[in-house]
Amino acid sequence: ESNKPVHFIRQIIAEDNQSGKFDGRVHTRFPPEPNGYLHIGHAKSIHLNYGMAVEHGGLFNMRFDDTNPSKEEQEYVDSILKDVKWVGADWGDRLYFASDYFEQMYAYAEQLIQKGKAYVCDLNAEQMREHRGTLTEPGRNSPFRDRSVEENLELFRRMRAGEFPDGSRTLRAKIDMASPNFNLRDPVLYRIIHAHHHRQGDKWCIYPMYDWAHGIEDSIERITHSLCTLEFENHRPLYDWFLDELGVYHPQQIEFSRLNLTYTVMSKRKLLELVQGGSVRGWDDPRMPTLSGLRRRGCTPEALRAFCEDVGVTKFDAIIDVGRLENAMRDDLNRRAPRRMAVLRPLKLIIENFPEGQVEMLDAVNNPEDPSLGSRQVPFSRELYIEQEDFMENPPKKFFRLAPGQEVRLRFAFFVKCTSVEKDAAGNITAVRCTYDPATRGGDAPDGRKVKATIHWVSAQHAVNAEVRLFDRLFNVAEPDRAPKDPKAAASFNYKQNINPNSLEILTTAKLEPALGSASEGERFQFERLGYFCVDSDARPGAPVFNRTVTLKDTWAK
Ligand code: ATP
Ligand code: MG
Ligand code: MG
Repeated sequence: ESNKPVHFIRQIIAEDNQSGKFDGRVHTRFPPEPNGYLHIGHAKSIHLNYGMAVEHGGLFNMRFDDTNPSKEEQEYVDSILKDVKWVGADWGDRLYFASDYFEQMYAYAEQLIQKGKAYVCDLNAEQMREHRGTLTEPGRNSPFRDRSVEENLELFRRMRAGEFPDGSRTLRAKIDMASPNFNLRDPVLYRIIHAHHHRQGDKWCIYPMYDWAHGIEDSIERITHSLCTLEFENHRPLYDWFLDELGVYHPQQIEFSRLNLTYTVMSKRKLLELVQGGSVRGWDDPRMPTLSGLRRRGCTPEALRAFCEDVGVTKFDAIIDVGRLENAMRDDLNRRAPRRMAVLRPLKLIIENFPEGQVEMLDAVNNPEDPSLGSRQVPFSRELYIEQEDFMENPPKKFFRLAPGQEVRLRFAFFVKCTSVEKDAAGNITAVRCTYDPATRGGDAPDGRKVKATIHWVSAQHAVNAEVRLFDRLFNVAEPDRAPKDPKAAASFNYKQNINPNSLEILTTAKLEPALGSASEGERFQFERLGYFCVDSDARPGAPVFNRTVTLKDTWAK
């Protein structure tokens, strides 16, 4: 589409199509490791990879990079597929698992050995580190570097056959121990891990390293543009070296900046720590930046995609204000969410001159942004609930909501004027009393008198009781990962010290208008004046639970 910005990856693909580099094909992939739940950073990658394929009439592969048995589980595979689908990427029947290529990868490794470009090394991890050298000093060759092809082949086959214990040997590429790029200092291709693989079972006890595996996966699938994040930029020479040495089909790796968000940690390892440490209630806790958390919070895939489009694709690492994500949610929900009335912290309002037992049905518009959504009937009676903070007994000058002697408009209903308050023995306000003006039905006074505030309400006898969960940011500081400058403080720094202990507020006595009683899981609404809310998966028939997705205005903006 012509209104989409021309970012550098769009540009590269356009140039490749023009030059015929991949015969005009565009074929991308999303290659997560199934070692955790996806987060919003992954959504950026999904949106980019899938978007480029769709835009160019190309193909998109969903591929699990399941090459490390120790951290991978079927639970993660299932959750990832659900989340990718939710973001909106459709892989059709193009679902692949890197572990299905293990046999081919193994054959390629033997080819490298035959060429004299790979060797079995007996150094342990510690010794290998010693041989690696430093930024200023070249590394030293392994004493096993000059093994014959025959010996290497025999040892590698015995590695595969399970004759050696974990960590005792590796297969390494023979490149250059003096390369300024550490990744080229004889990188490891295979290590011995006697572990059960979630898909391959106990078939293998040698497992390929990422750099070796990834290019082969891309090559086998005939990917054209292999899009990855910037930290792989200095792995690209290795990606290219492997494919060149094998002489196989060679995709183009292109790096872009990863998504970082303020007030958020993004790495799967840290998210797992938050789950295991009980800082949140699970991977799908609405405070988490996971896709399952965002979904449960009430974020829509449309809002997520608009956000990804908004942050764009660059070569520079930046930290995006999480407020931009919240704005994307507001924009989307404003258009589609029906309006309802709900009172989070109820205070009884008694209308002295409204007849007891009488009920009036009032017309309430469902969404002023979308007339096609029509209106509904809301019951009005002598006893209502209003928000505690909409009343003050001794208000300051600029307080225009309800106060003794002060008149306000009840949304969709009447003007009411406060006459007195009721208190318990301890002096706490238990109810507010008022009179209403029947001539103001619908919200306007025939005599033209004005009020300065409109407040929301719910009829007490018709109200549905609900639990409502309000969320604040999980972290107190914009960059929770950043260590303090002071060296002493930095030495003991851990991002967990920045966790906001008050990020969850649970209100158990909220009152909803009756129409909300039948809402089902995932349904989204605007509660007038309070924000956007959705039904949580903890909701049960007769016991609704709502999450606040986002407030109506950015309360953090100064
Ligand atoms: P993490 O470091 O958060 O655990 P990862 O990079 O290990 O994530 P993978 O499962 O390997 O996660 O990633 C799958 C794809 O998603 C990769 O192509 C990776 O580059 C991309 N990706 C991961 N995190 C981000 C991010 N924050 N922004 C953009 N793309 C990302
Ligand atoms: Mg990874
Ligand atoms: Mg990672």
